[in-house]
Amino acid sequence: MTDYRRLRVALLGAGAVGSQVAALLLKHGDELADRAGAALDLVGISVRDLDARRDVDLPRELLTTDPEPLLVGADIVIELMGGIEPARTSILQAIGAGADIVTANKALLATHGPELFEAADQVGASIYYEAAAAGAIPIIRPLRDSLAGDRVQRIMGIVNGTTNYILDRMDREGSDFADVLADAQALGYAESDPTADVEGYDAAQKAAILASLAFHTAVPLSAVHREGITRIDADMMDAARKAGYVIKLLAVCERLADAEVSPSGESISVRVYPALVPREHPLASVHGANNAVFVQAEAAGDLMFYGAGAGGVQTASAVLGDVVSAARRHIAGGVGVGESTRANLPVVPIGHVVTRYQITLEVEDRPGVLAAVAGVLSDGRVSIATLEQTIVTGDDAQTARLVIGTHTAREQDLSDTVDALGASGVVQRVVSVLRVEGD
Ligand code: NAP
Repeated sequence: MTDYRRLRVALLGAGAVGSQVAALLLKHGDELADRAGAALDLVGISVRDLDARRDVDLPRELLTTDPEPLLVGADIVIELMGGIEPARTSILQAIGAGADIVTANKALLATHGPELFEAADQVGASIYYEAAAAGAIPIIRPLRDSLAGDRVQRIMGIVNGTTNYILDRMDREGSDFADVLADAQALGYAESDPTADVEGYDAAQKAAILASLAFHTAVPLSAVHREGITRIDADMMDAARKAGYVIKLLAVCERLADAEVSPSGESISVRVYPALVPREHPLASVHGANNAVFVQAEAAGDLMFYGAGAGGVQTASAVLGDVVSAARRHIAGGVGVGESTRANLPVVPIGHVVTRYQITLEVEDRPGVLAAVAGVLSDGRVSIATLEQTIVTGDDAQTARLVIGTHTAREQDLSDTVDALGASGVVQRVVSVLRVEGD
């Protein structure tokens, strides 16, 4: 074996991802050394409980409950504990001690990213986080490196596997949200507390990370508009299907021309919500728990990145790619690649967003109602592109269900108009309002 320089690698966490990273690092050490140009010595693995059950057997002598000695003298620290603390403190400590960091921790990066990148910048260290958005899918490096010479206009991502699994099954089977969620929990696709996934928090963290990179702007998590999928029901799915759409939970990161809010005339919008996606769009064919990120760049055009967004061994692939990159940099020397946030574009609230909408209303079935609804829409500067009416016969009375597709409208105008429809006296119920993306 080539006599490589030896690098000390410390691993914090040996759960679903960490145990696979350790196993692969030990199994393919020689091969990874050839690729990295350095031998990667796994010096220890910190865990909470030495006796916890693990997906793979790891050498007992590598496990410790005390991360401190591992951090001292490490060249590369891999953080796979998750959560904010003690991950944040350990990473800051490792950076202070001169290590490069590899992490998959989206929650930490989305909330404390600027602090960590600043600390790394000060000592010329690097933070690698390919696994923090969309698991095994290479998307961080393409945005940071491959597209560094281009201008990203828009990213639309299916970045949460649990919600895609649920929506996909609802679409295929016509089932209700609660039934599919219960099934997903039984099968291990959803957590017992599914809030982070179904309310869009996990996708919002990834959206903040992707938008920060794509638009060279520090995007705080608080600037990401977030809506989950809990109100999506079988009727909405059915209506979407009939209209040629599928409902997907999307993370949308978009560059906007908005002279009002920025001297440069540009701003960005970052949002997570369930949206109607045309069935012929590449994102519509992302099934099960898979993820995909659709990127539109000024020169490159449309690009699609697709694959496993989670899973221990799949995510370990992205982590190990980062470990090899970190090792190469260590060997080559020089300061790390800092995060570019120089564009510093303002992130606009959801009210500024311009998109198309599908509004479903329940109205009285009587003459003049259609004209009244059209009048409210026109007063609100929302113009109708398509309209479909279905008569619903109930026990006592007959009502009509209107499905209105709009031309592009500003979100604030649309939301004011929906309020006005609700108050108009002719609308019995606003059944749903969904944005249309990707057409
Ligand atoms: P996990 O299965 O819960 O494992 C966490 C590991 O960290 C465990 O080994 C645990 O020790 C250790 N740990 C947790 N808190 C600790 C503490 N306070 N002190 C010391 N050790 C502690 O997590 P995971 O699924 O592997 O996820 C790790 C990271 O990868 C997270 O940031 C997650 O968001 C990210 N990620 C995960 C996936 C995925 O598919 N799982 C995909 C993409 C990104 P014990 O084993 O002793 O309990």
